[in-house]
Amino acid sequence: MDKRMVLEELRAYYRQLKGTTEYLVKAVDGVNLEVYKKDILGLVGESGCGKSTLAKTMMIDLTPPLQYMGGRLEIISRDGERFEIGQFKSRDEVKRRLWGKHITYVPQDALNALMPTIRIKKIAYDVLRSHNNDINFQEAVKTTKERLAELDLPDYVVELYPFQLSGGMRQRVVLAMATLLNPEILIVDEPTSALDVTTQKIVLKSLLKLRKLNLVDSIIFITHDIATVRQIANRIVVMYAGKIVEVGPVDSVIRDPLHPYTKGLIDSVTSIEPEKREKGISYIPGQPPNLIDPPKGCRFHPRCPYAMDVCKKEEPGVVEVGKTQVACWLYEGGRKND
Ligand code: SF4
Ligand code: MG
Repeated sequence: MDKRMVLEELRAYYRQLKGTTEYLVKAVDGVNLEVYKKDILGLVGESGCGKSTLAKTMMIDLTPPLQYMGGRLEIISRDGERFEIGQFKSRDEVKRRLWGKHITYVPQDALNALMPTIRIKKIAYDVLRSHNNDINFQEAVKTTKERLAELDLPDYVVELYPFQLSGGMRQRVVLAMATLLNPEILIVDEPTSALDVTTQKIVLKSLLKLRKLNLVDSIIFITHDIATVRQIANRIVVMYAGKIVEVGPVDSVIRDPLHPYTKGLIDSVTSIEPEKREKGISYIPGQPPNLIDPPKGCRFHPRCPYAMDVCKKEEPGVVEVGKTQVACWLYEGGRKND
């Protein structure tokens, strides 16, 4: 399968100063993942588990206090060009060579990210010109109208200002702007959480279209909402306390989650008891750990109903169970009988 991104033991920490003591917040701490062409990955986990930091690290958007601490990150273009996290001398170089062109990130607050006083056509022109100095305004407008049409938005949108667009339209315009240069990888952070259910559906449909029309090769969809993942993703990636604890095909993970944390997540959303459903992920008893000093061994052990002695001492390795990879001692030496 065509790989678009490879992460190996990737680490990125925040440096935090309290008084004169420096602490390291281990937000991304030894992450392994492969992203393939045609992937729509649903990246899930409680808030504060490192999802957004992982996205920033994938973008190689590392500005203090966030710092790259080691491991490998490789981005592979359609043409086979390879970019390594260590090769860039500055953030400007990353921006110029990667962003928009090969990888793009739509942040959580993207709805407010468009300058309200600049027409969509001018915003798009600036995006396209950043990549191709020779493009003229008419060509840029034509390209923009095509992309808008692909996302079911009418031509006249180019003439509008962002403040004239409804929430759902604005979110689609944001997606159109982010993908104007046809990057291989699109990362979207909680794109639907601020929208009502009908608008959510429209935005999900737009994402699927971007993928199906091969306008982007891979999508990483960050959310805390498993129901959305089920609608859009082919694989689910579960993050807990700076690490990935389970990766597998959406259907099998939702039907038969392996990691006790994933089980907790799925139980809380599929529960027939409305109270548990409403509490969502927080229904799992206990709190996610402080990432300055995370628990030894398996980071989930203080909350895990299956914790054994070994879990408190040693970190579990990754085990393959069918098409799923899981980091949990229960599966060491084969599948447990549950
Ligand atoms: Fe629970 Fe142990 Fe598995 Fe961690 S390794 S999830 S503590 S059983
Ligand atoms: Mg976040």
